[in-house]
Amino acid sequence: MKKKPQRSCVCCRTTRDKSELLRVVAMADGSIVYDPTGKAPGRGSYLCKNAECIKSELKKAARLSKGLRRAISDEEIENLAKEMLAAAEKAEQ
Ligand SMILES: [Zn+2]
Repeated sequence: MKKKPQRSCVCCRTTRDKSELLRVVAMADGSIVYDPTGKAPGRGSYLCKNAECIKSELKKAARLSKGLRRAISDEEIENLAKEMLAAAEKAEQ
């Protein structure tokens, strides 16, 4: 049996299949974006598909920023939270 790649949520540290997590990636140009494909090149951080993890993490963004090794602006955080919450909602349906 092929083992699925496992990643852990930067917020609650729960380990899940990579496909069950939302990926945030630091792009080569320095921007930080939600990566719905999970395949964008760059350093990635992962969050659970649930509002608690997304909100609590993106509010502070400290661990996310550390994982991605760069600072994130408030505006970027707001945009990320919006996109990721929408993705989490979709996943719940
Ligand atoms: Zn989590």
